Amino acid sequence: MTVVFEPARPVLVPTADGRQLPVHRIYCVGRNYAEHAIEMGATGREPPFFFMKPADAVVPVAAGEVGRIAYPSLTKNLHHEAELVVALSAGGRNIAVADAARHIWGYAIGLDMTRRDLQNEMKKQGRPWDIGKSYDQSAPIGPIHPIAATGELLRGAITLDVNGQRRQTGDLADLIWNVNETIATLSQAWTLAPGDLIYTGTPAGVGAVQAGDTMSASIAGLGTLEVLVMPAE
Ligand code: MN
Repeated sequence: MTVVFEPARPVLVPTADGRQLPVHRIYCVGRNYAEHAIEMGATGREPPFFFMKPADAVVPVAAGEVGRIAYPSLTKNLHHEAELVVALSAGGRNIAVADAARHIWGYAIGLDMTRRDLQNEMKKQGRPWDIGKSYDQSAPIGPIHPIAATGELLRGAITLDVNGQRRQTGDLADLIWNVNETIATLSQAWTLAPGDLIYTGTPAGVGAVQAGDTMSASIAGLGTLEVLVMPAE
């Protein structure tokens, strides 16, 4: 049987050990640091909730490179959200919290870029967030560091600077739902698979960027991810 047209090429993200990890799906956790949840209008330890981005929304940034995204269409309020990203090496359903870490291939720094004005309008109308969250180039990501090298990342600073000014500060220990709990909860709703990425949520201090701004996100043990916002195309 012939195919009607060539299938899209797999989406690949560089790894810190010089290979490439093929991306399956991108899951994102909402409001997963207490201070950010409060700045977005939530209260305490509400159950985690999820949204998704298409796999080809990733913008892979190799070690030592500066990533580039175009200022996206339709928005006047493009927000940065620095996040710990978990990449899975194995999947399954109903994964126990105690077993979750065995499913992790590694960790990366990611940006959950958000057209906040569109997301807020959708929230107000009770409509899906996709147009605010799941658009082209909305998921820059740095190299994925194997858990074999980093160990489990349970604590450590996560920060984001814009043009050298600190905007976001947090600690992985302050995740409301930690990585293992997140994997377990996700696996009750979806069949997880190798290559799934999980953007685990952002600490307080989200805000707008403009064309010409450089975002520098850092996580202890994972280095820094630099991304330049280019003019709209
Ligand atoms: Mn986010």
